[in-house]
Amino acid sequence: MTVAVAPEVRAAQRRIVSTINASGRLNADGLALWREVNCGEWKATAADISRDLDLLQVPHTIVTAFRFPLATSYSKAMREGEEVRILRRDLAHLVPWMPSMERTVADIPEDAPHWDFSVFQPRADGMVIAKLALSAEWPAWSKKQARAARLVCAECDYDLREFKDETRMPFDVRLPERPKARRLVCGQCCNDGVDEMERLAALAGKPS
Ligand SMILES: [Zn+2]
Repeated sequence: MTVAVAPEVRAAQRRIVSTINASGRLNADGLALWREVNCGEWKATAADISRDLDLLQVPHTIVTAFRFPLATSYSKAMREGEEVRILRRDLAHLVPWMPSMERTVADIPEDAPHWDFSVFQPRADGMVIAKLALSAEWPAWSKKQARAARLVCAECDYDLREFKDETRMPFDVRLPERPKARRLVCGQCCNDGVDEMERLAALAGKPS
């Protein structure tokens, strides 16, 4: 059975296929398309992409996601953007519009990285796990870019994206004078956050 496809749907298909080919990032969790905020003058915004995906009936979400600051940029702040994300199990909805996607998904390596970058956050009342709002491409950044994004240990420069050495997991240990600025340190450089937890507990006036 051949189903007639409306012209606006065909147009959405063409845009989505070229957007994915140009800037899609695939990892273990699915496909992500990142757009810097206010990029609309130059290319499709996250909202434009979302509209096209709606036309194609592909389930997706939009999340806030940050990328490392550009070396040429005046500001050292992370670049804020929006990321359109399609869960791996929903990529089947793209296949009718983009047949090559079937192969692409089948070829995702078993050890492919995930979306989330989780860190331990020492608090006065214990350790919590926090997720950083990073663009899905963080595993592919160079060490220099990871350093600009402050994903290396602030003390010893260890690349915290490894997640292989249990003694060097990322902990968010902030400087007392800058309690609002995230500062990642490896487990070896901060005694697995225990010292910081005790310091915060003492500050809060609780017995540790
Ligand atoms: Zn370290």
